[in-house]
Amino acid sequence: MVKRSFKYVVIALLFMAFGVKSMAKEFVLVIDPGHGGHDAGACGAFSKEKDINLTVALELGKLVKTHCRNVKVIYTRTTDVFIPLQTRADIANKANADLFVSVHTNALPEGRIAYGSETYTLGMHRAAANLEVAKRENSVIRMESGYKMRYEGFDPSKSESYIIFEFMQDKFMKQSVFLAKSIQKYYSRAGRQNKGVHQAGFLVLRQTSMPAILTELGFISTPEEETYLNSKEGVRNLAASIYNGIAEYLEVYAKTDVKRVSIVASPKSEPNNQVKDDLPKKKEEKTSSKPSATDRKQEESNRKEPTKPQSANPPRKDAVNEAKSPTRVGKTEEDDNKKDAQSNVPVYKVQFLVSPTELPANDRQLQGLSNVSCYRDGGKTYKYTSGSTTDYNEIRRLCNKLKEKYPDAFVVAFVDGKRVSVQEALSLQKKTK
Ligand SMILES: [Zn+2]
Repeated sequence: MVKRSFKYVVIALLFMAFGVKSMAKEFVLVIDPGHGGHDAGACGAFSKEKDINLTVALELGKLVKTHCRNVKVIYTRTTDVFIPLQTRADIANKANADLFVSVHTNALPEGRIAYGSETYTLGMHRAAANLEVAKRENSVIRMESGYKMRYEGFDPSKSESYIIFEFMQDKFMKQSVFLAKSIQKYYSRAGRQNKGVHQAGFLVLRQTSMPAILTELGFISTPEEETYLNSKEGVRNLAASIYNGIAEYLEVYAKTDVKRVSIVASPKSEPNNQVKDDLPKKKEEKTSSKPSATDRKQEESNRKEPTKPQSANPPRKDAVNEAKSPTRVGKTEEDDNKKDAQSNVPVYKVQFLVSPTELPANDRQLQGLSNVSCYRDGGKTYKYTSGSTTDYNEIRRLCNKLKEKYPDAFVVAFVDGKRVSVQEALSLQKKTK
């Protein structure tokens, strides 16, 4: 009898140990303070975006560490250093993060005044103002050497480049929008003007593979806003708003109860809930907060642009380009071209290696890769690619996977067997759709 109950005790203990272990599975949050080092971000009269972002991000991390025991915080930077956008995303991807929060500060050209906080998820912009924010934030890639190759020829200042976001399918959209809305709700409660949840083509969000948002704390170019962004109360309330939004997210998506922290609403600024989402209206979670009074200081009426229907569905895979076996390695460029030339539908591949000589099919650098082929593009070197599809999203996924082994892997496009830029290929695909 004693023996038997001992057995039960052991089983119960084991069960508890495993139960506790599975409950204690860490939730990994990556906090990404935008800019840093020689990249100051937007500049105000007396302060720089990079410093505001870092101060708020560190305060946010402190709140998370204090109140969320099961959340591991990883920062992309904790000091004033320059980190390329791709590296920021890599940090999150490598850590298998559950959530990515990028902290930024907004600015408008001289003479334009705006107030408030807004939060972005990845997608195609619907208003010109949102594209402007993405252009400004993406322009930092120009400070990285080799950015053209790393970002597939993306030119942050050209509107045409943003076509890639039209073809993107973001499987984390629902979660990202939920978080963005929650953060906006708490900004509102902190007395911030609520500039809503929007979508735009931010490269840093695009390179991550988990729910991700980018929040713009306020306008450094507006004098009162700059003062607020640099004040103790401002930093604390902005960080608390983001924190509370994350707490709400954890409750819904990680099933953990997390304490909300208090926000001290500024006596001067009453909550303003002028939410103008330009997101496609789907059945999303309702994160309503009481709509409130007046627009005190109404700035640019840039959200009123007519919205275009979003075409998020890329054409299906083309069967013609599917059946390429690894044995194709070593065949000539002409062979490749013939196969791809069967239609003028763009074909996407991941280029992962350049070799001065032709590699044998069993070369260890090519091992474990599917659909390997090689092209020369008129040059002397042999360029090796993996995968072959007309589905841009599929090739993006493959590229992210290959980056683990080949960090410099990038997407290349071919039309009629000729190498073209990814933007050109997507434009063609859009036209012929
Ligand atoms: Zn920024």
